[in-house]
Amino acid sequence: MGIKKVFNIFLFLTTISTIFLIYLWYKDYQFDTKPLTKDTILRIQEKTKYLKSLALEKYNINYNIPILISKDMKSNLFGKTKYSFDEKIVIYLNKNRFKENVNYMIDSVLPHEYAHAIMFILGDFSRQNGGHSKKWQEICIFLEGKKCDRFVNHNDIIIEKTNPFN
Ligand SMILES: [Zn+2]
Repeated sequence: MGIKKVFNIFLFLTTISTIFLIYLWYKDYQFDTKPLTKDTILRIQEKTKYLKSLALEKYNINYNIPILISKDMKSNLFGKTKYSFDEKIVIYLNKNRFKENVNYMIDSVLPHEYAHAIMFILGDFSRQNGGHSKKWQEICIFLEGKKCDRFVNHNDIIIEKTNPFN
């Protein structure tokens, strides 16, 4: 094989790799700047509706828990649940984590956080094991969460008992 041919093959491979890298970068850029796809948002809404119906059936809780998609969360957190001083409960889902696995976010993370929210509504503010008590686990399992293990090494609940602006 002549030197020229080898060089051409090399050039060809380099060009292909460069195009591929630009494509990956572009996809990342697109994801970071755009909201989640319509399909994903619809699935989150459907799942939330279902979780709400389970909460009503089992705990007689009829409460609309807002689900916010946040792109400013710590990257090691998939979701978090906040109880604020004015008794509002909000679930945050980490937008960046949807990039890797939409099913995991919807079938595991959302029920996990929803169970934290129900604990708050039931007036249970236990911080035992980062809020992952036995009772929390029972709720998570009832909500058909795919991952309800109690030994997660993160703190994903925020409890504000007093007005931070006072
Ligand atoms: Zn948790």
